[in-house]
Amino acid sequence: MEVPALGNPLDVPGRPAGAQHLHSALVPTKTTKMTPPSRCPACAHDLVLLEAGALRWCPACRWNLDVYDPALAPWRGTRMVGRWGFRRGLELDRATQEDLLADPEARPAETSSVEVWLLVISAVLALLGLAAVGYLVWLVVASDLPPGVRLALAIPAVLVVLLVKPSFGRVPKYGVLTEREAPQLHRLVREVAELAGTPVPDVICVDLSLNAGVARLGWRQRSVLVIGMPLWVMMPRSARASLLAHELGHLANGDPLRVRRTLLARTFGARAVAATGGRNPWRRAMRATDSLAEQGSGAFVLLGMIVHGIVALANVAGATAQLLVDTVAMPDSRRAEYRADLVARRVAGSAPFLRSCETALLADRIWQDLWHLAPRIDGDHMEAMAAEARERLSAHLPMARQLSRRTTDLWSTHPGEDQRMRLIEALPDVNGALYVDDIRWAKIDTELAPWRRAAHNALLGTRDRF
Ligand SMILES: [Zn+2]
Ligand SMILES: [Zn+2]
Repeated sequence: MEVPALGNPLDVPGRPAGAQHLHSALVPTKTTKMTPPSRCPACAHDLVLLEAGALRWCPACRWNLDVYDPALAPWRGTRMVGRWGFRRGLELDRATQEDLLADPEARPAETSSVEVWLLVISAVLALLGLAAVGYLVWLVVASDLPPGVRLALAIPAVLVVLLVKPSFGRVPKYGVLTEREAPQLHRLVREVAELAGTPVPDVICVDLSLNAGVARLGWRQRSVLVIGMPLWVMMPRSARASLLAHELGHLANGDPLRVRRTLLARTFGARAVAATGGRNPWRRAMRATDSLAEQGSGAFVLLGMIVHGIVALANVAGATAQLLVDTVAMPDSRRAEYRADLVARRVAGSAPFLRSCETALLADRIWQDLWHLAPRIDGDHMEAMAAEARERLSAHLPMARQLSRRTTDLWSTHPGEDQRMRLIEALPDVNGALYVDDIRWAKIDTELAPWRRAAHNALLGTRDRF
């Protein structure tokens, strides 16, 4: 795919350089404050403005691109936290890239200090859970308190057990591809794992998301590789190998958020939030108290208020705990993401890695295009149609790539695509170690044919809902 050079990202077909583009939408404000410049103060290029009032930036020299933009940055409860997370994310990306560029071959440490911390927290939580269970057993078996008192004393312990009880997740039943059903795909995954120096995933399965990932699921925490068929279909073949290599890279790159031993510490905050009703705890507490006030009288309402207040406090505490754990773990986790990208470069090659990022940047738009085409094609045409859409939409790439810097922060699971591409572009261009010929790719395509049809059906299904 032809990618316009970064230095001149608006020189794309159909849009003459320097044309009056998006900023004509600016509505003059009635205040006397200075109108923002429409040209870049650094290089005089026209600035980009996505919507009135938002923060403009220069697409040519990236002036003002790396600023916190509440309209684009992930929402983190308050602007203050969001802005801090955005800035911290930028610093982290810069520092991590510097480190990795200095020594791209460095292996991750066996156990990082962050992992040790999370391990300690996990151990404390496990002990807490065991103590609560022991206390409950004592209440039931050994204590001779009246039943009502025992029940009241049991409630806090039950809550502790519920909070600490690990949730392992489930290995999906739908979409599992056995070696017998898809021998060529399994062979490819094995080869990628071997070249990447990672274990082979225990389970390979397919779903209908615009995504791909590895996870440890079930009480045995088996490694599961999930391939989202829509994303797979729209990637060029070599980019698919890069996608696999990145995901498998996660099985051996020292990400503290992905190892079994830290499960308790990294999930209990989120579980506390879910157990106490999810987002917006105070709004929920207010509403509950209101409805109590309509029905009940004095003491009853007061008791209700106290209970709901405690639940909301527990919710905030859980959210804060999760944010803190993630904040502590993020430097290692971010480094692990970039390492997975380095694995992808080594296994699949620089160019296929960059193609996979570009496809990810355009994925929503390509899917939208396929949605329009879906009634006129069948599952077997999806790939060719997606490739055409990718070409057609490539004019959006430079802007989408720059925008990816504003849509990621410290807590995003992956760095922005632009950051990831820059690291690989800064390293020498390499060919991947993996070679898969067209005959093998065609066999893999045949194995996945039912899933392409399922993805096509999903497109037709979503049409009906509109
Ligand atoms: Zn500029
Ligand atoms: Zn990743």
